[in-house]
Amino acid sequence: MKILKTLKKIIIIWINFTKSIKNANQYRSRDYIEYKPNSVPIAYDVDVLVVGAGVSGLAAAISSGRSGVKTLLIEKQSIVGGLVTGGWVTPFSMQMMLENGELITRGLVEELFDRISDMGGTVENWRDWKIPKLQIDPEIFKYVVIDMLKNAGVKVILNTPLLDVIQQNKFISEVIIHNKAGFQAIRAKQFIDCSGEADLARLCGVPCTLNADVDPTLIKVVNQALKNKGWVKGTEKTASLQFVIGNVNFDKTHDFIIENPDHYASTKRGNLIEDVELFSYLWKKQGFFYLPHETSFKELIKSEVTKGDMSFEIGKYKLIEESGLGMDGLRSSKSVVVNANRIMLNPFNEEDVSNAMNDGQEVCFEIWKFLQNTIPGFENSSITAVASYMGIRRGAQIIGDHVYTAEERMECLQYKDSIGMASRKTEKPYEVPFSLMLPIGVDNLLVASGKTVSTDDFLPYRTKPTCMILGQAAGAASALCIKDLKNLNPRDLDIRDLQKSLIKDGVYLGDADRLKELNLL
Ligand SMILES: Cc1cc2nc3c(=O)[nH]c(=O)nc-3n(C[C@H](O)[C@H](O)[C@H](O)COP(=O)(O)OP(=O)(O)OC[C@H]3O[C@@H](n4cnc5c(N)ncnc54)[C@H](O)[C@@H]3O)c2cc1C
Repeated sequence: MKILKTLKKIIIIWINFTKSIKNANQYRSRDYIEYKPNSVPIAYDVDVLVVGAGVSGLAAAISSGRSGVKTLLIEKQSIVGGLVTGGWVTPFSMQMMLENGELITRGLVEELFDRISDMGGTVENWRDWKIPKLQIDPEIFKYVVIDMLKNAGVKVILNTPLLDVIQQNKFISEVIIHNKAGFQAIRAKQFIDCSGEADLARLCGVPCTLNADVDPTLIKVVNQALKNKGWVKGTEKTASLQFVIGNVNFDKTHDFIIENPDHYASTKRGNLIEDVELFSYLWKKQGFFYLPHETSFKELIKSEVTKGDMSFEIGKYKLIEESGLGMDGLRSSKSVVVNANRIMLNPFNEEDVSNAMNDGQEVCFEIWKFLQNTIPGFENSSITAVASYMGIRRGAQIIGDHVYTAEERMECLQYKDSIGMASRKTEKPYEVPFSLMLPIGVDNLLVASGKTVSTDDFLPYRTKPTCMILGQAAGAASALCIKDLKNLNPRDLDIRDLQKSLIKDGVYLGDADRLKELNLL
């Protein structure tokens, strides 16, 4: 009987599998057509072109614009902010402070938080080491960054994807875009790729580390380039669809957790213990509702699944149990951003991403239903938004002049070409090197998204404050090349000129002793 049942199950799975292949294939064609675009108008002629308006691109464009060079920012979506706004990945990991209260990540990100805080878009005292992640209001974030872009004189063109590149040897001369006005070219002297997927670098033929199912031929290039330095760790090719739950009675949820502390999944971030005590401190003293990205309410979840009232899996998605249940809310908004699902997908296959977006709607409602039925405080809540931009943690990473390894970072936290500092709540901060952004084979391109820089250990660089460190330095370096040194290759810059310019703009590169070591004093 058992064998028959298993056989029946296997046959059903097989039939569904062949059906899905047949369905997918009936829309595809193997034919090719000849396609020759005509000459296209050069719509813009600028000094610096930034591609992608996430936090990296915003920092790059503001920094370049403030340096007084003609800066254009293009973005394929209809809003600025990238993952922060379209992706509802609103929390900024607070790797900016040391335990003694010293703020080590400064510059544009500090200015941004001060301005958001002044408008009530986050807490007043954001310089608190005990804050694991700073939750911000994305509309106030948008308001502030748009104002910063305007004041920096940056021209922003939305709904405009980058399509192609025109190169003369190692120099990019123009890129091709397409929007409602048709195909157009943009001419620039310096280019900054903040697409988060290294789109411009890949078009230029820069070798990248990619998922094995994307382009197996590139893997060879990558392996050669990395040689003995080890293969990129495969743990972060995942995505999560974020969503927002409104009208939550946080006080009620807080009291429920305090009365049932076993429901809270504690964790550690460097020296910071994220336990119930911290949870209560953040809520009472700071006005944050924070669940770490672990699985709180484990027993309640199990019981709902056993009753058949909740699924652990929907399609390719894993829900809560395996993905964790991260929550970040602000008292003022009565709403919480939820990070509670996980899917493996191919970031370079839009069919895969589209399926994940569509299947994700049901997933988000399933998670919300669990919270509404089980957790005090969520009874009268509702879903107020599901992200319109998939939260893909990583796509392609460039192979740069130097590939930074995890081992190297652990041993050597200081770099001659440091452009900023961060700390993962540990005593010793680490520096962010400029050369992370220099792709091999192209002379006037910097790749500034923390997700795509040249390292086998992208975790320390992908968080938002670090993305802004990279973006600010890329903008300043591009402007220096144009203003002072006439179209020079950024890798030929005297690094001290860049460092001095960053310090002038509020970036912190260390105490007096460190500045002396860097020959900056
Ligand atoms: C699920 C998830 C949870 C995370 N949690 C945290 C956290 O708790 N704390 C933290 O600090 N960080 C977190 N991160 C990481 C962080 O949010 C991202 O690494 C960071 O926001 C990346 O910013 P970016 O500007 O480099 O890229 P993005 O925000 O992805 O911006 C890239 C922009 O480029 C545009 N673009 C792409 N291709 C093109 C093209 N061809 N032409 C024109 N425009 C293009 C995109 O539309 C987008 O706006 C998380 C990330 C994910 C996915």
